[in-house]
Parts: sequence; structure tokens; C-alpha cells
Amino acid sequence: MRKLAAGNWKMNGSRDSLGEITALANAYSAPGCDILICPPATLLSRLSDVSGPAIATGAQDCHAKTSGAHTGDISADMVKDAGGTYVIVGHSERRTDHGETDPDVRAKAEASLTANLTAIVCVGETLEDREAGRTLDVVGTQMAGSVPDDATAANTVVAYEPVWAIGTGKVPTLEEIGEVHDDIRAALVTRFGEDAKGMRLLYGGSVKPSNAAEIFAVSNVDGALVGGASLKAADFGGIIDALAAS
Ligand code: PEP
Repeated sequence: MRKLAAGNWKMNGSRDSLGEITALANAYSAPGCDILICPPATLLSRLSDVSGPAIATGAQDCHAKTSGAHTGDISADMVKDAGGTYVIVGHSERRTDHGETDPDVRAKAEASLTANLTAIVCVGETLEDREAGRTLDVVGTQMAGSVPDDATAANTVVAYEPVWAIGTGKVPTLEEIGEVHDDIRAALVTRFGEDAKGMRLLYGGSVKPSNAAEIFAVSNVDGALVGGASLKAADFGGIIDALAAS
């Protein structure tokens, strides 16, 4: 399995940020892991043009439909047309800010697979869930509801992102990360069989160059989905290096 370092720029970046991609492209012509940047939709096409063969690009969301009267949205086909090969679906900020439900996320993931894109399906508990001891139940329910039936190791990635760890500097213990990743793997194998052993499971939530190596040593962690630390090539490079060495 090729591990994956995925960057989510969220609502950050401008044309000036293209230099960060060219810096990554220059530094990683033959990386020891897959590298992905998901910029805002405004930059996807430009960034895809300069990212080079070793750095994939993708979108942070897509609509479930292929086209039509959906002001402000972009379809999976449009992501592909702009050079993207991945789509993040069900990020907690989409679930919270836009009220996206598990069926919504599943429909977007299905649209991504139909467009021959790789879907990164995000799941994760709130602090309230964790403190109430509901983490595995919440994540299990999100997984069952959000991951499409035609998911395979080749077309789907799952990102476990505790909501309370995103952008906060707080990170679960390594045991807590391992417990959830092991549980996700077991659920995927039960549902999809042996193929799911090769499905990549990313951890996301305040990953930095300084904590990446210890997180990547946890069982069933096959990479990271990174927000803040993916904005600068130097920071993201530290995470890529740790993943390639893991
Ligand atoms: C994210 O947005 O998916 C994320 C993990 O953000 P950060 O790395 O900034 O916590």
C-alpha cells in the first residue's frame, strides 16, 4: 500500500500560494509516499497545471449531481476537468457548517467514484461524544452511513478526524488513535472483505512535523489529512518525510 499525505488548504490560498506547490514539486519528484493537495476550488485548475506528476490535486467537496441548477457548487466531473483526482467528502466543517448528513456524504462519495475520482470520506467524534464514551459508536455509524457500497481500496480513503483535534493543537493519545483505526479497519473488512485491508486510513487533527512520526507508527495509520501544516511546503515536507520513513 502507498501511504498518503493529504493537504487540505480549506478556505486559504491565492495565486501567490502556487509557489508552495512548485516548491513541493521540486522537492518530491519521486516521493516515498503519495502526496495530495486539495486547494480551494478557485485554485484547483492552476495548481493542477504546476503540481507535476508526483503531486496529486483534489477538491474539498463536490455536489452529488453531475450538473444543473446548484449555484455555488461544483460537480465531481468538474473536479476531474480541473485536473483533480481526489475529493474530500464529509469533512466535519462541511457536516457542521452545511448540515451535511451521512446520506449526503455517501451520495457525494458515490458521485466521486462514478467520476473515477478517489473519495476521502471523513469521520470523527466531537469532544462531547468522546467524553461520553461514544467514540466508536459515532465513528461506526458515520462509516456505515457515509462509505458507499462500491468502495474499494483503489477508489476510497477513510480519514479519521476527531472534531476536537482539528485546528486546535490537541491530539488524541496514540492509544486512542490506534483504537479507532483498528476498529475502522475491522468494520471495513467485515463489510468489504480482504480488499479493505488495503484501504488507506488517514489520521487528521493537528498533525505537525513534530508529532507526525509517532502518529505514523500507530497501527492502521496509513497517512494523514493535514490542514494548517499543509499550507507551507516546508511544514508539509516534514510530514511527508516522516510518512515516507514510516
Ligand atoms: C483538517 O482540516 O482536516 C485538519 C486535520 O486540520 P488541522 O491539521 O489544521 O488540524
